[in-house]
Amino acid sequence: MVSSTRRAPAAAAERAPITTAADLPWLAEPLAQTLATQRSHALLVHGPTGVGQFEMALALARSWLCETPAGERPAGLACGRCGSCHLVDEHSHPDLRLLVPEAMRAQVGLDADDAASDDDGKKRKPSREIKVEQIRAAINFSELTAGRASLKVLVVYPAEALNTVAANALLKTLEEPPGTLRFVLASAAPQALPATVRSRCQSVPLRPPPADQALAWLESQGVAQAGVLLAASGQQPLAALAHHQAGLDGASWLALPTRVAAGDAGVFANWPLPQVVDVLQKLCHDRLLATLGLAPRYFPGSTVPPGDLARLTAWAAALRRHARSAEHPWSAGLAIEALLVEAHAADFTRGPSAPIHSRP
Ligand SMILES: [Zn+2]
Repeated sequence: MVSSTRRAPAAAAERAPITTAADLPWLAEPLAQTLATQRSHALLVHGPTGVGQFEMALALARSWLCETPAGERPAGLACGRCGSCHLVDEHSHPDLRLLVPEAMRAQVGLDADDAASDDDGKKRKPSREIKVEQIRAAINFSELTAGRASLKVLVVYPAEALNTVAANALLKTLEEPPGTLRFVLASAAPQALPATVRSRCQSVPLRPPPADQALAWLESQGVAQAGVLLAASGQQPLAALAHHQAGLDGASWLALPTRVAAGDAGVFANWPLPQVVDVLQKLCHDRLLATLGLAPRYFPGSTVPPGDLARLTAWAAALRRHARSAEHPWSAGLAIEALLVEAHAADFTRGPSAPIHSRP
């Protein structure tokens, strides 16, 4: 059951940290293909977050920096055994810089940033943006002499977290890169990047793996009812694994539509608000499908009732606005109640006169 005692499916539920792409079998082919066709000093790996874009970016860096002679490595893949591969895995390679927002350092296996305090020493919330100071420091790094390898690699993840000033600073380096610098930008929202940045990068699309491959992998990770959690995460295996690791099981997931319909706010106890909004968006999506006579996508085998198209469309629009809200509070009891009232109002069985912002 989803209960308040289990660990909340915190931000980590978007993806679980995996050390290397070798753990993710569906990345093998795109990785080999990208290494074989690379023609630009800057790559943009893009696709759903839970497919492994960060692992792919890191795997490219690992392959470029690997010290085993290329002739001894099939398809140019990293050997996984040399000193360089070891340092990349430890996130301590002197020629590799990972640019991530402060708030995501722990999630990608970096030490939490001690610098998350203001000038007056007061603690502040870790930033969710990649800031210009980070870009400047990375550019300084790139201008130093190579430490170990003959090239340096900058991984930017997630690239859509670059704020405008930082993106402009990065653009200058993308336009005139120092000879030995390579970039891998990884993004789930490449359209959010400035077109000038996108156009400087070779596109590397990543798609969700075939369902049978994803299911076999999830089962090898000990995930029960893998098919349900895979559907719950939109066919993104790392997101499904993160759901499992956060304590969500298939039965609890399939019970969500009924509990939301009953206005049961306890179903989301300890959930971060962005994730509640995400679940409601999936529920709304499936209700729209049911209304059109189509099978559900995220809640397969669950009772997702059809509804009134106009009301569900209005609900979908309201949820999109909530999803865009920049800073969600982390403790969100009242906000969740309000979201459930909205969910209820979208249900045409409550009667067409039910106002959208009050309890029936
Ligand atoms: Zn190696």
